[in-house]
Amino acid sequence: MTRIAIIGAGPSGMAQLRAFQSAKAKGLQVPEIVCFEKQNDWGGLWNYTWRTGVDQHGEAVHGSMYRYLWSNGPKEALEFADYTFDEHFKKPIASYPPRAVLWDYIKGRVEKAGVKDQVRFNTAVRHVEYDQGIEKFTVQVCDHTQDRVYSEQFDYVVVASGHFSTPKVPEYEGFDQFNGRILHAHDFRDAVEFKGKTVLIVGSSYSAEDVGSQCYKYGAKQIYSCYRSQPMGYKWPKNWSEKQHLLKVDENTAYFGDGSSAKIDAIILCTGYVHHFPYMAEDLRLKTHNCLYPQSLYQGVVWENNPKLFYLGMQDQWYTFNMFDAQAWYVRDIIMGEIELPSSADMQAHSQMWIARESKLKTPEQMVKFQGEYIKQLIATTDYPSFDIDAVNDIFMQWKKHKKESIMSFRDKTYRSVMTGKMSKPHHTPWLYALDDSLEAYLESENREQQAM
Ligand SMILES: Cc1cc2nc3c(=O)[nH]c(=O)nc-3n(C[C@H](O)[C@H](O)[C@H](O)COP(=O)(O)OP(=O)(O)OC[C@H]3O[C@@H](n4cnc5c(N)ncnc54)[C@H](O)[C@@H]3O)c2cc1C
Repeated sequence: MTRIAIIGAGPSGMAQLRAFQSAKAKGLQVPEIVCFEKQNDWGGLWNYTWRTGVDQHGEAVHGSMYRYLWSNGPKEALEFADYTFDEHFKKPIASYPPRAVLWDYIKGRVEKAGVKDQVRFNTAVRHVEYDQGIEKFTVQVCDHTQDRVYSEQFDYVVVASGHFSTPKVPEYEGFDQFNGRILHAHDFRDAVEFKGKTVLIVGSSYSAEDVGSQCYKYGAKQIYSCYRSQPMGYKWPKNWSEKQHLLKVDENTAYFGDGSSAKIDAIILCTGYVHHFPYMAEDLRLKTHNCLYPQSLYQGVVWENNPKLFYLGMQDQWYTFNMFDAQAWYVRDIIMGEIELPSSADMQAHSQMWIARESKLKTPEQMVKFQGEYIKQLIATTDYPSFDIDAVNDIFMQWKKHKKESIMSFRDKTYRSVMTGKMSKPHHTPWLYALDDSLEAYLESENREQQAM
């Protein structure tokens, strides 16, 4: 029987499991699937861990999320087309749920699909190589529960191990002299630690914006953020000031490109992540920066030099969960022989055309539409329920506008689901004052509010 290895049971790997289960539910014969997940539960980044550095098995900690993280984009932009928020929660919820609520939603679909027994938890993939002679992959893993290293052979491999886990860590003059804490956003777990402190955020990406906002929300005394090329440019609160690039630090002071300096207590490096696949043999290893159309991946997923290997979710992400779905359904249909791939040369030419188009994109709107168009043409090839991607593009543009209007209250806005046509309801407490991020608190107070009505 054909065997498929999926590496990682985060949202991308879970989408792949669900894609095959949906074919099976239609009476089709599907290959044997084994999903290897190094953590003890599924959900990828959404499965919060307090750990930093290495985990209980000595594996690099995957988690980059933190307590009090709320969705940074409207849930209406990431909703599954085959499993809506209404179906999961049985009632309308607000547009920006906390992490635990989104984790619950992602899990709900695959629990319903009954695919958990295909995942081998606490099992880290150590090495993947391809043997041209027998036309199979050998996947070597470490089962930490049994403390046993073993190898198995597979016909196809789907890499779904994410790319927001291995931090890109710059070094600045004076870091080795600095008296306070220096950490990367990957290791940031709890903004309360910075209450009453003056924090320097290095970077101007989503992490910088959100980690800084967390520090503000939970009582940091003063925030400085510094940028290399462009300021984030939001209307920051009075105690948040954007500075030009960081030049150096000494024991307690940061020095910036505009000649100014500031006394600081801690430095948080929001400087991004690298795509890192140490377990892939050299000829199979994706090498890319964070972009919308990575090199070497036909249709963003097929490894052009060996189309039995796939990578899911490797793009820079405007779209997330429903893009992973579009990719997973497409990969499933290639494996099941429903979609025929062009020649290697044609695949490469096709990718180069998209890569050239990406290089000309200038505005966020163009980028959103580019990714939307990519998803549209994937969905057109499979039976993944089609949905109004132009309407989702519009949601992203409204979201950008709301952030420009007010960076500390954009999460109080509501949006219409393109899947159900229903408007979400406002959350009972403005995001800035909602300090408890637990699922129970979120749903319990929703219940309380419903009872009061
Ligand atoms: C701080 C932060 C905030 C974010 N906020 C949002 C948000 O609000 N909304 C949104 O839509 N997206 C958000 N994202 C984007 C996020 O990338 C996606 O939502 C999603 O988690 C990507 O899913 P994935 O399955 O591709 O990767 P991941 O979620 O990274 O999952 C990969 C899985 O692979 C496993 N794995 C890795 N290596 C191995 C190995 N060698 N062997 C076995 N298993 C392995 C990991 O343990 C993990 O479970 C955020 C990302 C970060 C870092």
